[in-house]
Amino acid sequence: MRYVDEYRDSEPVQKYVKAIADTVKSEWSIMEVCGGQTHNIIKFGIDTLLPGKITLLHGPGCPVCVTPVEALDRAVHIASLPDVIFCSFGDMLRVPGSRKNLITSRAEGADVRILYSPLDAIKIAQESPEKKVVFFSVGFETTAPAVAMAILQAEKQDVTNFSALVAHVLVPPALEALLSTPNIVLNGFLAPGHVSTVIGQAGYERITEEYNVPIVITGFEPLDILFGVYKLVKQLEEGRCEVENAYGRSARADGNVLAQKAVDEVFEVADKKWRGIGVIPKSGLALRQSYRRFDAEKIFNIEGLRVEEPTECIAGYVLQGLRKPNECPAFGVKCTPQSPLGAPMVSTEGACAAYFNYRRV
Ligand code: SF4
Repeated sequence: MRYVDEYRDSEPVQKYVKAIADTVKSEWSIMEVCGGQTHNIIKFGIDTLLPGKITLLHGPGCPVCVTPVEALDRAVHIASLPDVIFCSFGDMLRVPGSRKNLITSRAEGADVRILYSPLDAIKIAQESPEKKVVFFSVGFETTAPAVAMAILQAEKQDVTNFSALVAHVLVPPALEALLSTPNIVLNGFLAPGHVSTVIGQAGYERITEEYNVPIVITGFEPLDILFGVYKLVKQLEEGRCEVENAYGRSARADGNVLAQKAVDEVFEVADKKWRGIGVIPKSGLALRQSYRRFDAEKIFNIEGLRVEEPTECIAGYVLQGLRKPNECPAFGVKCTPQSPLGAPMVSTEGACAAYFNYRRV
C-alpha cells in the first residue's frame, strides 16, 4: 500500500537504527506525543531497536484517553434525554464514564449514532426537526476544524436544533504543562504529524525558545518515527534546540491556514480538564460568545456537572510518561480491552491497549 509499505521497509529501518546508534553519545529521554506513534512503537517493537541510552516515554496524545470522565458523564446525560439524537465518533462509545458509557446508554434505548464527520450531524438535524441533535466534539487540533465548519454551516443554514458538546484539547499547552512538572525529565518531543499538519511548525516555536527543548514533527510509520528520533538525537548531541519537520509529506511551516481560520472564528482558548491530569490552563477550546447558541452544555444546563476521577486507574501517570501501562496494578487483571477501567485501555491509540495487544508481560 502506498505511503505505508515504503515506511515499513526493513532496509531503510535498519539504516536509521544504525544512524541513531552512531549518533547517540549521552542518555536522552524522548517523548512521543501521539497515541498513534505509541501504538506503532509498541506494535513494531521500535523501542527495542533503539540503543539503551534512548528512553521513549509515551505522551498525552491520544484524544480519547485524555477526555475526562466528566465529559463522558455529560455525554451520557444528554444522550439519555428522550428528544435527543446523540452523535459521536465511534471510538468514544466504549470510554467509561463514572457510571456507564455511551454504548450502555444506547442499549438502554438512547439514540446514539456513530458518525465519521460532524457535518453529517447537520444533515440529521435537518431531517429530524423535532429532535435535538448533539455532536460530541472531542479531539485535538485535528478534529476541531471539521466541528468549526459544521457550526459555521449550521449558522449559515439556520439549523437551530444542532449543538456541540465541546471537549477539545490542544497539544502545545499540554507539552508546556509537562515541561513545568518538576518530576518529569524530558529532553525532546516527537510532535504528532496530524496535529502539526493543522498548526504547522510555528505552533511549537515558543516552546523550544522558552523551555530549551527540541521538537521534531514526525509521522506514524516505523520509518517516520525512527527518522524523527534520529533528527532529535542529532539536535540533542549537537546542542541545538529547534523545531524541525520530519513529516514534510503532510505538515508545512504555517500549517493549514484555512483550518486555523475556521477554528479561530468559532472557538476561543479556554482552561480544560484532562483525564487523570486535571485542569491545564488555556489547554482547550470553548465556543466563542457569538456561537454559544450551539453550546450543548448551555442548552442542556450541565455546566455545573462535576465528577471525581476514579483512583484505581493511573491513566494520569501513563499519559504523562511517568508510568508504563504494565506498571498499573490493574493492567491485564481488572482492566482489559473487554472490561476497561480507563480510556487508555479502550482507544486504538491508547498506550494501555497497545501494551495489552502487543506486549503483555
Ligand atoms: S491499565 Fe487500565 S486502569 Fe491501568 S492506567 Fe491503563 S486504563 Fe487505567
